[in-house]
Amino acid sequence: MPLNGLLTRCCQRLLGVCLFLMASQIQAEWRYEQQAIMGTEVSLTFWHEDSSAAKTVATAVMNEMHRIDQAFSPYKPDSELSRLNREASRAPVKVSDELYRIIDKALYYSRLTQGAFDISFASVGQHYNYREGKQPSDENRQALLVAIDYRQVKLDPRATTVYFSQPELQLDLGGIAKGYAVDRSIEILKRMGVNNATVSAGGDSRVLGDKRGRPWMVGIKNPRGQESIALTLPLADTAISTSGDYERYFIDELTGRRIHHILNPQTGQSAGELASVSVIGPQGFDTDPLSTSVFVLGVEKGIALIESIQGFDCIIIARDGKLSFSSGLGQPE
Ligand code: ADP
Ligand code: MG
Repeated sequence: MPLNGLLTRCCQRLLGVCLFLMASQIQAEWRYEQQAIMGTEVSLTFWHEDSSAAKTVATAVMNEMHRIDQAFSPYKPDSELSRLNREASRAPVKVSDELYRIIDKALYYSRLTQGAFDISFASVGQHYNYREGKQPSDENRQALLVAIDYRQVKLDPRATTVYFSQPELQLDLGGIAKGYAVDRSIEILKRMGVNNATVSAGGDSRVLGDKRGRPWMVGIKNPRGQESIALTLPLADTAISTSGDYERYFIDELTGRRIHHILNPQTGQSAGELASVSVIGPQGFDTDPLSTSVFVLGVEKGIALIESIQGFDCIIIARDGKLSFSSGLGQPE
């Protein structure tokens, strides 16, 4: 090939490479994915340079959310949790390492909160239906109250079995599984090379990195304000879980009381004085059970609990609108 022709070829090649680079640059953007999973809205935002790889990432995260839902939903009869609930009061049931770890963590928080957090709340909790405005009769509730007792959930670490020493006892992981699922999603994102992301499953969120040079701005809903935001927090590389009395609830026509989905294990009734609790900390596996715990414990004991654990903070909105913060966040004006 004459020299001229060779040069022209080289130039064409270079131009091609430049155009390719520019095209892939243009593709670098925020990616969004949203699905209804685990009875709530799961959403994912992340930065990725490549459209088709980004799709693979989003699918991997959503598949993981579906897997966790399928394994640990108490509403799916063939889930591992449902099988445990059916069989564990007859004899110890061998469970997956994953379910074992989740129950073990839940029991840790039961001991830490002296039973304010108790996944056996479901012994009574399964008789509520917030969508249909149903609750157990006082009689039924009182009769089943003995079956809310985390101490009757017996774990054998060597055999990885779970046994219920109370025949009516039932478990529900609704206060811990979403935080766990959000953590798993972040692990997948990291493994697939993502550096900036936010994942949320209902009230449980975790942010990875920052929003490319700025913090993520995470809003805490005004518990009585439809879609309005009570306050916004700048966050990076952290988890935040919010427990509220406004997502799943109905008003009891007779008493006018708000019947919502966070139960006080001592009474089997909705926990009383707060409207919203947000807990901030490194991972959802802890912030999720802690936000439910503080909701049950109330302002004073709740803040004392959070301040006793290194690396966590909380923001509480009482039913009368009063804001309280743990000391790590400073006091409101
Ligand atoms: P959300 O489910 O909206 O993220 P929470 O994290 O506060 O809110 O979890 C509430 C869920 O926790 C309830 O729907 C129920 O499944 C479960 N739960 C309710 N009360 C308790 C309790 N005292 N201890 C442990 N789990 C609870
Ligand atoms: Mg929670």
